[in-house]
Amino acid sequence: CGIFGYLNYLVPKSRKYIVETLMDGLQRLEYRGYDSAGIAFDGGNEIPLNDSPKMPCVVVRQKGKVVDLRNAVAKLEDNNWDLEFETHAGIAHTRWATHGEPSAWNSHPQRSDEDNEFVVVHNGIINNYKDLKAYLITKGFTFESETDTEVVVKLIKYLYDKHKAQGHNLTFQDLVELVISQVEGAFSFLFKSVHFPGELAASRRGSPLLIGVKCESQLATNHIPIVFSKEFRGAVVQSPLLRPETSAEAEFHPLGSNKNIEYFFASDASAVIEHTNQVIFLEDDDVAVVRNGCLTIHRIKRGEISEPSHR
Ligand code: GLU
Repeated sequence: CGIFGYLNYLVPKSRKYIVETLMDGLQRLEYRGYDSAGIAFDGGNEIPLNDSPKMPCVVVRQKGKVVDLRNAVAKLEDNNWDLEFETHAGIAHTRWATHGEPSAWNSHPQRSDEDNEFVVVHNGIINNYKDLKAYLITKGFTFESETDTEVVVKLIKYLYDKHKAQGHNLTFQDLVELVISQVEGAFSFLFKSVHFPGELAASRRGSPLLIGVKCESQLATNHIPIVFSKEFRGAVVQSPLLRPETSAEAEFHPLGSNKNIEYFFASDASAVIEHTNQVIFLEDDDVAVVRNGCLTIHRIKRGEISEPSHR
């Protein structure tokens, strides 16, 4: 089982390149074992403008090998593979079924609704999924898979809609923090949403997840600055990227005029090593979000965030 994600920020890439990068990442994780595979990326044939309305999200998933998924995606109709995205966020998954048999419906990405407003890939097991599912059913949600994972992506949509209706626009970071404060078990998650184009949100507890950072200009000097924001401020130059034990909160952003950057999310380093050797290992309860090319990592304290009140 494995997770792979790819986000390019101000580094124009074709849809073909983006999808192949995701597939190659999955292929490098194949050795971990799996029974199904899937990906999610931005659809449509329009050139996305900076403040364009939502890009539709395409989800392709099925039982079987990564090569079968690759073939299925290549056959998708109406896809302009040469369309270039300045910024794009895609996620991919190989599943080793724990809840629900191997099938297309149970494969990941799991989705919030038919419009794929939120999609998630997950490795691990959510122990309290039955409670969360029962709660969400009382809120009108219906479920299309037998997975434990689906509750998480329905929960994030529930929270998004609820806060929006109250006039609050929560950030992707806020939403994922709320979600993982409700989840018991082991997980690594990667979320994508049409409401947060060009962003990815990741978190882990007990299952591995790391982020590879590729920034051409700074790789040349082998120095990547990381700005830690809580315990101390100021640029710390390290290579490879390692966070001091003391810091629970970190913000990384490309400095200077070269703001072009690529991020790779993966279950293990073997999947990103062909792209970069600059790697940040997420720790338990970290929530990492890339937004406007900037990576922020915040470690939540469980118990401090409370909602929804389904207990
Ligand atoms: N528990 C999830 C499922 O059965 C994720 C399994 C995995 O780690 O691949 O769908």
